[in-house]
Amino acid sequence: MKWENRGLSKNVEDRRARRAGGAGVPLGVGGTLLLLALSLFLGTDLFSLLGVSSPLGTAAASWSVPGAEATDDERAHFMSAVLDESQAMWAAIFAENDLVYEDAVLVLYEGAITSGCGYAPASSGPFYCPLDGRVYLDLAFYDVLRDRYGAAGDFAQAYVLAHEVGHHVQNLLGTAAEVRQLQRAEPRYANRLSVALELQADCYAGVYGRSVAERGGLERGDLEEGLSAAAAVGDDRLQRQATGQVNTETFTHGSSAQRMRWFGRGFETGDPSACDTFSGVDL
Ligand SMILES: [Zn+2]
Repeated sequence: MKWENRGLSKNVEDRRARRAGGAGVPLGVGGTLLLLALSLFLGTDLFSLLGVSSPLGTAAASWSVPGAEATDDERAHFMSAVLDESQAMWAAIFAENDLVYEDAVLVLYEGAITSGCGYAPASSGPFYCPLDGRVYLDLAFYDVLRDRYGAAGDFAQAYVLAHEVGHHVQNLLGTAAEVRQLQRAEPRYANRLSVALELQADCYAGVYGRSVAERGGLERGDLEEGLSAAAAVGDDRLQRQATGQVNTETFTHGSSAQRMRWFGRGFETGDPSACDTFSGVDL
């Protein structure tokens, strides 16, 4: 996938552990305050110019200034580019529909993390927390995706993040809240509803893929990478790997075939309204 490296987005919070030998520029509290004051004065976010995440516009300022060593990390920069590009796309789609898109924040972390949704142990897959509007991603997940599930490549990674951004869109549109309400009212359908929600996020990831294709950003093999990542994280394959058998009743994300189909639907149409995964749910 062709992309432009612009360092870390203002919507990325880098909570990875500092690594020895990093070319970090620790700002310190004084530097942070100075930069903050200057940023406010100039009306320009100087933090993003320096490639560090900004306390401006991030609600929970518990995390102040991560080291700039993250700027060495191409994977982090790639995720940052995908985040910005996908959110710019959603902002445009929302605007066409007279809605206002609010950016999600991507938190990069290593090991375990406490999100607004509680404690996530090490080796949790990427997840979205609707309570704090943040996507949590441990980049090591991409090693697992490649080594254990055979889904390698940059577009596979882009798909994973675009899927999580899709959950943010569902949160903004109220779809996720509606689903939670229905799940509480009808617990026996909880899994099916969860599958529909996940497949819709896959379809939204496909819509993003289409936008990359339209700007000429796809390279040979990229679409296959996205599809193989969608297939890799299907419930049937995950279950078979974990238990040796498949029980469709306990699916929460959908089968590999379903995930590929919905990703493909979003990609073909480029239209989020084609992502109605709920009308097919047998309640
Ligand atoms: Zn999901």
